[in-house]
Amino acid sequence: MAGPCAVEKLEITIGIAREVKEGGGCILRGGAYKPRTSPYSFQGLGREGLDFLVEAKKQTGLPIVSEILDPRDTDVFLEKADIIQIGARNMQNFELLKEVGAYDKPVLLKRGLSATIKEFLLSAEYIMSRGNRNVMLCERGIRTFETHYRNTLDISAVPALKELSHLPVIVDPSHASGKWNLVAPLSKAAIAAGADGLLIEVHSNPECALCDGEESIKPSRFKELITDLKKIAEAVGREL
Ligand code: PEP
Ligand code: MN
Repeated sequence: MAGPCAVEKLEITIGIAREVKEGGGCILRGGAYKPRTSPYSFQGLGREGLDFLVEAKKQTGLPIVSEILDPRDTDVFLEKADIIQIGARNMQNFELLKEVGAYDKPVLLKRGLSATIKEFLLSAEYIMSRGNRNVMLCERGIRTFETHYRNTLDISAVPALKELSHLPVIVDPSHASGKWNLVAPLSKAAIAAGADGLLIEVHSNPECALCDGEESIKPSRFKELITDLKKIAEAVGREL
């Protein structure tokens, strides 16, 4: 799964979607509603952003994953998104979890900033106990004492979650590191450790991205990475 942190202009979204597909990605990510730390940062295009993703899907065939922030937007997400993302900051927003649990739309649940494995799995239970069993778990780095990178990728979470649950485990090396140059090595480690998928921020012009440009890789690097990941997968007896 790859694409921009935030959906920006329509042409940029379509351009990135084409490059993601060309590079070997199979799902387009893009935030339309952004949970920003500062209220003065770009908050996303909202509904218009979802429409841009739908257009990019029409042109590339790539399904869409996008983050929901407010249960009042459920209808629009059910209509326009293929996978609903619950972000790290909402991992314990129990009303939101129950809401997405009431439908069968696949959910990508991200681990909370300081959530334990047990808390993470119990949040997945909130969704599944409402009937929606289409849940993917996403390890996206946790808060530690280390400040050199944005978060610390908890690679142990991959085998641990796979042992404790039957759910697919996705790794997000972009938010885990906050640094574009760490995305490739962390992705390789994730595949070697057994991750079922990756969520990677890709932008055609990271320097000008409205959100998280510093952790976004360019499409050419994404393509290279996918080629390398195939070799890693093969080396550990897996397929990509
Ligand atoms: C994102 O994937 O766009 C995002 C905001 O990530 P997280 O919830 O992991 O911080
Ligand atoms: Mn981001």
